[in-house]
Amino acid sequence: MNFFQQTLRFFNLFPCPACGEGDGNGVNDFCPECRKKFGAIDPAKRCHGCGGDNDTALALCSLCLQEKKRPWLDALSLFRYENEAREMILKFKSGNHGVIARPLGKLAACAIAAEAWKIDVIVPIPLHFLRKFKRTYNQAELLARQIGDHLDLPVENALTRRYAAGKQAARSRIGRHRSIRHQFEIGDFRRIAGRDVLLVDDVFTTGATCDAASRVLLQNGAKSVRVFTICRTVGYAGRM
Ligand SMILES: [Zn+2]
Ligand SMILES: [Zn+2]
Repeated sequence: MNFFQQTLRFFNLFPCPACGEGDGNGVNDFCPECRKKFGAIDPAKRCHGCGGDNDTALALCSLCLQEKKRPWLDALSLFRYENEAREMILKFKSGNHGVIARPLGKLAACAIAAEAWKIDVIVPIPLHFLRKFKRTYNQAELLARQIGDHLDLPVENALTRRYAAGKQAARSRIGRHRSIRHQFEIGDFRRIAGRDVLLVDDVFTTGATCDAASRVLLQNGAKSVRVFTICRTVGYAGRM
């Protein structure tokens, strides 16, 4: 840490972006208190279907065992989607994006590097263009770019949305799966053909979105898909 950073740190000019007060280490990092409160999922004990806590002695948790086979090789998620982690994600989605993407990307890159996955390209889950227009940015893409910078990997917007997903929360789980199944298409298959893909999204709820995206990637020649999300909902009580 150089003198300039030390000075910034002393005055805490760049505080923790989650609580707005804690020591941001001079660079808007998450403070140690927030990091403790985020509710980290132990990667060694996780479910390889959803990246969440595993309640079985198998590779998949009891919820993933009930699902159709996941098309990806592995999944990793950092935090349980509740309390402080959920608040941080909501901040990330509602405008505090730039300042939260950076420390999140750093944590994500460390966790992904520890898996020693073979990755050629990072693909974010896209927003529908109407939603992107409204919100002006795609948080999954911001995250993917941060991860790409840290791991020195290319990021490709290979997927596009066919139509807005609508009010998913109001639908039944089965209805939601049906509406999501056909919503993605590939822009340019050469970006992913023959390559090992890391698919990135903010929250893993049922996995229906990642399922649809992965199938389109694999149908268009992707060699493999792995899924990274910041948060995994606890059970299926996703309040998106
Ligand atoms: Zn904090
Ligand atoms: Zn699972």
